[in-house]
Amino acid sequence: MPKVVHHVVKRPGRKLGDPDIEIPVPEDFTTVPGIPLREKDVAFYNREYPIESQTIEKTADREWVMTVYGPEEKAFRQQHMATMKPLVDSAFTSGDVEPTGTPDPGKDLTEEIRSKARELGWGEVGFTKFDRKYAYVSKKHWVKYEHAICLALEQDYHQTQQIPGMESEYAHFGTYEYQGAMALELCDTIRASGYHAQIHSANDNSSPYIPMFVAAGLGQLGANGQLLSPHFGSRSRLAIITTDAPVTYDEPVDYGIHSFCQTCQVCVNRCPGRALTKEKVWWRGAEKNKLVYERCRPVMAKYEGCGVCMKVCPIQRYGAKPVMEHYVETGEVLGKGTDNLEGYTIQDKGYFGPGQLPHFDREFFDIPHGTKEEALFEAFKDRLTKEGVPPAEELVDLAFKLKNILDGGDTTRGDE
Ligand code: SF4
Ligand code: SF4
Repeated sequence: MPKVVHHVVKRPGRKLGDPDIEIPVPEDFTTVPGIPLREKDVAFYNREYPIESQTIEKTADREWVMTVYGPEEKAFRQQHMATMKPLVDSAFTSGDVEPTGTPDPGKDLTEEIRSKARELGWGEVGFTKFDRKYAYVSKKHWVKYEHAICLALEQDYHQTQQIPGMESEYAHFGTYEYQGAMALELCDTIRASGYHAQIHSANDNSSPYIPMFVAAGLGQLGANGQLLSPHFGSRSRLAIITTDAPVTYDEPVDYGIHSFCQTCQVCVNRCPGRALTKEKVWWRGAEKNKLVYERCRPVMAKYEGCGVCMKVCPIQRYGAKPVMEHYVETGEVLGKGTDNLEGYTIQDKGYFGPGQLPHFDREFFDIPHGTKEEALFEAFKDRLTKEGVPPAEELVDLAFKLKNILDGGDTTRGDE
């Protein structure tokens, strides 16, 4: 049954030079621009329970994943890290590099930066304030400039549809490699105009980036926990450059996605780890579908990054415009219930079509939790409970292990 259109969102075309697109947003899915927020709660949680990078808080499972990756994934990740290292090193100190040009007082650089970023290849470019509320504890004092340029680089369509598998991993990590080099070039352009620019590398995150992309109007948060942008859904890799160049902020947009996800639910139903939640909850002041990390992580580790929630998303597959137009015409979710959208193959388990999910034993989800030192203490407590106080040499061994972990220190650098 046809639906009433509440408003139409106009966005630039997918590639530079493509015509603008218009996305009809049905009345059924109209909520708020961006995401429903309780600002007081956001401020409270970020003050009382500030967030820290997963690379610091989850070191135990980050170490564990290296023991379960297949040989091809492991070799590829190592090669990717080596490729990224000079880019991540340059990003880390990029904020200290002095401008090469002279600023033109009073000139707004928004459109100049946007055009250059689009020319370099980014599909979505937006501007907002770098919201320090979201900065990771370890990066609070690293962020130098207040304006955030949000940049989403599209990942290869065909490789992504082969999720889960190494082909899509090549696309996933390869996109980060291109993006790292592109960010250096965009910074040079900003410096040539007389201003500073600091790259927030995907391998060395400074904060969760999605809230700022939503604030900049580049999409809305999907039930899969990813930014759903209008052209390629979550099939993109995100980077931020902060700058002191004068820019004008974009506004958040209601694409209808916040509500559409509650009707769609394809990712929730298809997640092999049953890690996605049907209902939205208020989490740290935002209304969202909250992913259960401990159910996702083992699947991602053992099945080449998984990503089924990205692959089966109709907005990733077809784009927001065809999906919303189809809903307006028919009242149905484009592709839902078809093998074409929902089917996937899990290595050593076979093909799963709509309504079918793989089964994993409870032990499959047993992974070490928290930091490496917390996991070491948990194992020690378990040993004390089950077998009593161990001999002196085991206690010394424990002390050496702990000292090794402490000497290793914390790092925000990861392997994205
Ligand atoms: S990556 Fe896989 S296991 Fe994790 S939420 Fe997505 S579909 Fe589920
Ligand atoms: S699959 Fe459906 S429910 Fe999941 S993120 Fe995409 S649009 Fe939202």
